[in-house]
This record gives sequence, C-alpha cells and structure tokens, in this order.
Amino acid sequence: MTSLLPALTGSFSTPAAGNPTGAMVEAAYVHHGIDARYLNCDVAPDDLPAAVAGARAMGWIGFNCSLPHKVAVIEEIDGLARSAELIGAVNCVVRTDQGWLGENTDGQGFLSSLRTVADPAAQRVLILGAGGAARAIAVELALAGADRIWIANRSVGKAEEIATLVDSADGGTTAYALAWDGVLTPPDDATIVVNGTSLGLPGSGPVPVSFEGVAPGLVVCDVIPNPPDTDLLQRARAAGATTLDGRGMLLDQAAINIRLWTGVDPDRTVMGRALDIAIAGWEH
Ligand code: NDP
Repeated sequence: MTSLLPALTGSFSTPAAGNPTGAMVEAAYVHHGIDARYLNCDVAPDDLPAAVAGARAMGWIGFNCSLPHKVAVIEEIDGLARSAELIGAVNCVVRTDQGWLGENTDGQGFLSSLRTVADPAAQRVLILGAGGAARAIAVELALAGADRIWIANRSVGKAEEIATLVDSADGGTTAYALAWDGVLTPPDDATIVVNGTSLGLPGSGPVPVSFEGVAPGLVVCDVIPNPPDTDLLQRARAAGATTLDGRGMLLDQAAINIRLWTGVDPDRTVMGRALDIAIAGWEH
C-alpha cells in the first residue's frame, strides 16, 4: 500500500520502453507492503546530469541506470562499491549517509542465479563476449574465487582488457584472452560456459560454439533473458550439459537492487510472475 508520499526509485535509460524491471520491482513493493514506487524514465545522454540532480532534489532512495548511462553516471554520483569500481560501470545507485553510492548488480545477479546450480568458487569458466555484461560477470566470478577464466571475443583487445582487470581483482583467478574466430569448442577442463554476447536475441545469428563431446557436468549459462530458452541452451542440453537462462540473472539483479534500496530481500516467485507477464508483451 503506498501512502500519499511514497519513497521513489526508478530507472534512467534510452530506449526505455521495453524495460520490464519496473513490473518486477513494483510487484515486490506491493507484496511486501513497501511504501515506494518505481518510475521507468527515458533519459537522453545529455539529460543524465539533470535527471540525477532531479532524483537527488526529490529525495529518491535510489535508481537503476541502463544503456547508455552505465559509465557516464559515475561522474554524477559520490562513490563506488568495490565491484562497480573494478568493472568501471554502475547499474544501480543507492542513497546512503555518504551520498549516492554506485553498485554494479548485473554480475551479482548472475552469480546469485548461478549459485542455484553451481558454486562459483574454484570453477574454470569460459566467458563468450567482452562487453559490459561479460565484464561484470568476469569480475564477480573472480571476486567469488573462480580458479580460471577464459574470455573469448572476436575483438580480442577487449578480452585482453578484461583478463587484465581480473588479474587486478587479486582473488587468485588466472585469466586468459582468446581470439574468437569461427566455431569455438570449450577447453576440455572448462566446468562452466557463459554466453555474455548479445547473440541469441531474436534476429541475431547462432552463437558459434560447439558442445560436441563436452564433459558431463558442464554448466552452460546464457545472459539473454527473452526468450530465455535460447538455441545455445537447447544445444548444450542436447549434449548433456546443465543449463541456466538469463531470466534468473535479470530477476536476481532486480531483487538485489530492492535489498540495497529498502533492506528487504524480496520474494523471487512474486517478482518472477510479474516478469513473465511483462516479457510476454515485450517487443524486440
Ligand atoms: P555489449 O554491446 O557491451 O557487448 C556485446 C558483446 O557481444 C561483445 O562482446 C560483442 O563482441 C559480442 N557480439 C555482438 N555481436 C556479435 C557477433 N555477431 N559475433 C560475435 N560476437 C558478437 O552488450 P552487453 O554486454 O551490455 O549485453 C550483452 C547481452 O547481455 C545483451 O543481450 C543484454 O540484453 C544481456 N544482458 C542481460 C542481463 C540480464 O540481467 N539477463 C543484464 C545485462 C545484459 P565485439 O566486442 O567483438 O563487438
């Protein structure tokens, strides 16, 4: 139940029309009786400073930043949590006594989802792609004690950057960059494969990776949340792998945001139902 003066949260991105996060977050607010609202705002790059200043002036308790603001928002806030500092990008801003604190919950959401099928500690992980999602996932895996990470990308320079970043996280993880040219087969000793590319979205081509002869017990994950059962996951399951879709990552990062803003650890089932309704009408 909201009062006449609810706490305010929301999201700044553009385009923003297809963002289903508000549906999940508001369902959790209602379910837990949290007196807050979540506003999905379309904010152009030049307007980001004014949007953040507006949120500050109106006393918002926090907000999400999605594309294209995840790096630019750092200039507008007062500090960074450790993983956001390492990743160099922020997707969740939290009001604290010290001012606006930038967090990166994309990788944390992935890890929380991964833990439903595997403990990240001591794993040997092949990450496909070297964009923002792959970078956040690599850093969180390193902070969680993964043993080895390979980052494969068609532009190998970006993979090398992430490998250097993982080394600087100083968690004992060894990182290697791989040039991804043609069909890639996961290294024999990989225990987890993560698709962190945008391939798998409707209309994009298949992910050029082969699961033929992979070891039993391999876990294959995708970041694509809609449709969740991607061609990559279907092929991995047919080869005997355990699979994890990107819907869980999206849901868990939203749940972590709510906990950071309100202190309440929300019910994932309630949020999942709202997400499924929202993405049923999601346009690509
Ligand atoms: P970026 O644009 O930062 O990175 C895209 C990555 O995909 C790059 O590594 C790029 O390679 C690679 N790629 C794109 N097209 C191709 C291709 N044809 N062949 C090979 N590689 C390709 O995007 P993000 O990292 O921000 O997002 C990636 C995906 O993750 C998106 O689909 C997004 O929706 C999803 N995502 C899901 C979240 C969730 O909660 N489930 C959260 C955040 C993101 P190159 O560098 O060579 O261009």
